[in-house]
Amino acid sequence: MSGFNNPTHGTSRTSPEYVKFHPSDSGFGLDPVFWKHPATFTRNTDPEGRIDVWGLWPWITLTVDGQTRSGWNVPAEQIFQRRMSTQYIYTGIPGARPEDQFVNFLIEQKKSQLKKLVLGDLVIRDYVLKIFLRDVPGKNGEPRIWRRFKVSGALSLSVLADKIILPLMGWDRSLHAHFFTDFTDGSLFGPKGARSVDMVHIDLSAGGGWVDENKWCLAHLVREVGQTFGFEYDLGDQYRHEILVEEILSPEESNGAIRILSGSGAPPMENGNGNIPWREMLEKYEKGTRREKNDVLSEIFNSVNYQDRGWRLVSWSPSWFDIEDARVAVMKALNSPTSIPGKQYVAPLIDGAGSNLGFGLKKKEALVRTVDSDLSGGFFEEVVSTKRDNIRASACARCGNPNNLRLCTGCKKRYYCSKECQKTHWKELHKFECEALKKAYD
Ligand SMILES: [Zn+2]
Ligand SMILES: [Zn+2]
Repeated sequence: MSGFNNPTHGTSRTSPEYVKFHPSDSGFGLDPVFWKHPATFTRNTDPEGRIDVWGLWPWITLTVDGQTRSGWNVPAEQIFQRRMSTQYIYTGIPGARPEDQFVNFLIEQKKSQLKKLVLGDLVIRDYVLKIFLRDVPGKNGEPRIWRRFKVSGALSLSVLADKIILPLMGWDRSLHAHFFTDFTDGSLFGPKGARSVDMVHIDLSAGGGWVDENKWCLAHLVREVGQTFGFEYDLGDQYRHEILVEEILSPEESNGAIRILSGSGAPPMENGNGNIPWREMLEKYEKGTRREKNDVLSEIFNSVNYQDRGWRLVSWSPSWFDIEDARVAVMKALNSPTSIPGKQYVAPLIDGAGSNLGFGLKKKEALVRTVDSDLSGGFFEEVVSTKRDNIRASACARCGNPNNLRLCTGCKKRYYCSKECQKTHWKELHKFECEALKKAYD
């Protein structure tokens, strides 16, 4: 990083221990944490000893109007101001901002630790996981919205997020970005190349960056029964989920296949502002007048994910969960390429209108349009990869097993874990699409 030096801006601060500043950056407003050395700084924990967002922010408890709320004290205003005042200084030099230098060090450090991990037989053992939405409790304080499922310990975090958790929880696969949290050190794992609108909040929600989830699997993140890890969806609304390892089956009991076991609670709506607003909507639905109830329903049914999944149910209730519908959504996702967060709605107002996604297209990416199901004439545009998924970030198109994968020799697009899976899938579906997939790209 030539041309960078340590700031001498006449404050009582000594110079930073690790990061380097551009001569035009006085370091003004930079949080004290970034003045320390990323290898030795003390990571902040919550009262239970868990670390989130790389351990950057302190945990605080505040009482406002008699209500006590706790959380990570993210210096939002400061981050925003720094972003505004330094964006021109560091433009075009990725990772050059002192904040990014600091977090990138943590990312590299984590990657080298991950490389040294010995996973042993965890890659041939199946995990039973329970995911739930935080801060939306039932009558006895238990999680109200949850799903239980089984996956292989070798399953890539990218498949786990994109093809299992998102469809299973009822989220759209590409509308927003997501990331996992390792609570033991606060390290984060997220998708590479995400360009959804919520990525502008990456400083606030993820401290600026994450480890590429494509390269690591579930066993890299958790290795013991009783451990939990985090999953956040939508960097703006911040839907916070927690995932508990309920069981790790023996190799003999494991077959690597994905199974959706049970669940309860209606999926929250997209763009609904996060966990607590969703809880409040459910309360309004349950305790409100007839009119309020109808208002809530209409808002929910008009949301993107409810529209996309065709959920418009007379039988809808806060505890609604259709396990068959969830299974179908996961199966469908398994038989598709990895999605890239970056989907935008284009209103039908201007002729020739499009999203701005087309400007950033990389090699082997294409823009796909889907017509909005409410017939307004608007459409969605999203970026899809036209390249075959990397074998390390893949799973059997039929059962979700990530082990012993082999490509379909016809289309060279779908992986299968066994002859049986390939045969069954061929009969069920693949014979109708193999030829088209082959021609579609490459
Ligand atoms: Zn299979
Ligand atoms: Zn094929």
